[in-house]
Amino acid sequence: MIILKIGGSILTNKDAVSEVDTKSLKRIASEIKSSLDNSFKELIIVHGAGSFGHPPAKKYKIGERFDESEYPQKRIGFCETQNAVKKLNMYICEAFIDEGLPVVAIPASSFMRATNKRITEGNLDSFKRYLDKGFIPVIYGDVVLDEELEICVISGDQLIQYLAKNLNPDMVVLGTDVDGVYNKNPKTHDDAIFFDKFSSLDDLDTFEGTTNVDVTGGMVGKIKELLYLADLGIESKIINAEVENNVFKVLENEKVKGTVISRGN
Ligand code: ADP
Repeated sequence: MIILKIGGSILTNKDAVSEVDTKSLKRIASEIKSSLDNSFKELIIVHGAGSFGHPPAKKYKIGERFDESEYPQKRIGFCETQNAVKKLNMYICEAFIDEGLPVVAIPASSFMRATNKRITEGNLDSFKRYLDKGFIPVIYGDVVLDEELEICVISGDQLIQYLAKNLNPDMVVLGTDVDGVYNKNPKTHDDAIFFDKFSSLDDLDTFEGTTNVDVTGGMVGKIKELLYLADLGIESKIINAEVENNVFKVLENEKVKGTVISRGN
């Protein structure tokens, strides 16, 4: 089984609210289809919320503690966020189905629960059932109920971690808009040094996050989730999904530039 995450940075235009990058989406869908046509693979797709989910989540401060009197507003914020990411998911699924990929959406808000922003409940049986029947389950960054905070945001990166921990995949791949992990943000530092392998947060020069609309931690948040998986012995790889054919190649087990996150040397 392969768990493939496609970052919100690839699928949406982060500078504009709720705009899908239709070209990238179609290209990635066709790369996945070509690989599946080559040989059968069990595949789960995770996608980020990108410019769809972050603005309402930020506006309503989803995930921060609040007073009972604020509940009506928070509820609406939860609904707005859920609906926004659902819309993005709909565009993504539409593009995938157009390519002939049998994707089925399984939204986190419909079955997962968190405690202090960490997923603590979420039965994955339906993922296994759909996989058994030849479907490609798709899950995405979403809002869920939280035992401590009432409501919170769950990132696609946390979902990757939860799925991988519980489903024991053969491969975990994250496609984003940079080649992998650098010692500092390569978009703002020309002298950033690239890591083929990454095993500790200490290797980062700064904790500078990522693009400003992101409320879920950006690259550092991503790495933290993946290091947790590395501790469990599950290796993952971050690749640049903006580079044509990278997604196809990685699914085919071909060599692709990227950063492997593992605790080994
Ligand atoms: P996605 O939406 O694909 O999950 P994010 O936008 O959350 O990805 O994170 C990717 C971004 O993180 C990159 O575009 C890059 O600008 C930023 N970033 C910050 N620090 C680093 C770093 N040390 N190495 C690589 N990318 C970094």
